[in-house]
Amino acid sequence: MNWEPWTGCYKISDGCTNCYFYGPYAKRCGQNTILKTDKFDWPIRRNKKGEYNIKGDKILATCFATDFFLPEADQWRGEVWAMIRERTDIDFLILTKRIDRFPVSLPADWGEGYDNVNIGCTVENQALADYRLPLFLSYPIKRRFIACAPLLEAIDLTPYLHGVDHVTVGGETGREARVCDYEWVLQIREQCVKAGVTFWFKNTGSLFRHDGIAEKINPYKQTGIAKGLGIDISDGKRLF
Ligand code: SF4
Repeated sequence: MNWEPWTGCYKISDGCTNCYFYGPYAKRCGQNTILKTDKFDWPIRRNKKGEYNIKGDKILATCFATDFFLPEADQWRGEVWAMIRERTDIDFLILTKRIDRFPVSLPADWGEGYDNVNIGCTVENQALADYRLPLFLSYPIKRRFIACAPLLEAIDLTPYLHGVDHVTVGGETGREARVCDYEWVLQIREQCVKAGVTFWFKNTGSLFRHDGIAEKINPYKQTGIAKGLGIDISDGKRLF
């Protein structure tokens, strides 16, 4: 399930170049306009019986169509942290390209982190891995994963895998998509094997190079092809 407390975003790094998804309300409100959505308080809404509308034991992917750490959302984030704290029965998955804003965005009682928050730091190339991941690892976070998406080149994650639970890799999607080379994917997988970290090849992207041959991949087939390659490494726990 996805929960988008706000919508809108703007580009911050190379991986954003072909971002087609600035939020579900983007067309109506403007892609760069950051606005609260009508689902802002969704996790704590209750029905007439007083029960939460969203039952527990769920994973809520949060801000996958915007960025949790946008400065424009600073005014609302305190309320969102309070909702996350209230719903200890839900795992909140937060993916960000703005991990460097993490320290200015924390609630007073964060401590070493909330148990039900899993933060994913996105890195699309080596330069951003070398900038974002040392910061990511230095912050108090109980559950972390790295998302190499869209994967734009070979990346060596080896220095950063200690303290990370999981790595996800995906290619870029859309008409203008840049190539994702299977060799780069396998290299990251190998790094995960050596570090004992789980790995998920989420999707091939729209332009996938395999054995040196680049091929356009239909959007509906990208996840299935990635899965069919059979290279995922799971520990049996559900992440997404
Ligand atoms: S941070 Fe994410 S949502 Fe925002 S522009 Fe970049 S890719 Fe798009």
